Amino acid sequence: MFSQKLKTQLREAIREVPDYPKSGILFKDITPLVNHPTLFSRLIDTLKLRYQHHSLDFVVGIEARGFILGAALAYALGAGFVPVRKKGKLPFRTISASYQLEYGADSVEIHTDALREIKDAHVLLVDDLIATGGTALASLELLDRLQAKCLEACFLISLAELGGLEKVGEKVNTFSVLEYPC
Ligand code: AMP
Repeated sequence: MFSQKLKTQLREAIREVPDYPKSGILFKDITPLVNHPTLFSRLIDTLKLRYQHHSLDFVVGIEARGFILGAALAYALGAGFVPVRKKGKLPFRTISASYQLEYGADSVEIHTDALREIKDAHVLLVDDLIATGGTALASLELLDRLQAKCLEACFLISLAELGGLEKVGEKVNTFSVLEYPC
């Protein structure tokens, strides 16, 4: 569904910023893609084609750039949008799941009523990028605890060398539009 031409255009629109937010990280900045006059809508329209026949109840986006892609896709699909946020950001009752960072740990949270008590809610998990997979796995744990059925975990970018997509793939179907490096 994603033609080579579209993938090349998307790749060209993603800016690489060395040593951000810290030394040694090559940050993939999607802001030049999402402010592009046509590429952002073509990305969302093409993702919509992939998921439109799956009767999704919710698109679940991971803070922060997963909100941009996830909310737009939820709108396109006529589904609800649910945020998974970093610890302490959601105002109501939450459950949380931790994941390891290079140094220490962090956690993500979801509102306990995020899925509106829909039994076996069908959800799609979305983020801009998967690296080690820790954030996505913790998000899947939250969805499991809310008894959601996750159709797929979808990423714009996967950093293949870090193996996150494979790790998440042991739990759910995965899809990434662009694989780096390549
Ligand atoms: P991980 O839990 O290691 O898979 O990291 C994924 C999360 O960290 C995503 O929410 C990404 O937005 C962010 N992230 C990790 N590495 C990068 C990177 N090189 N460029 C941009 N975002 C990144």
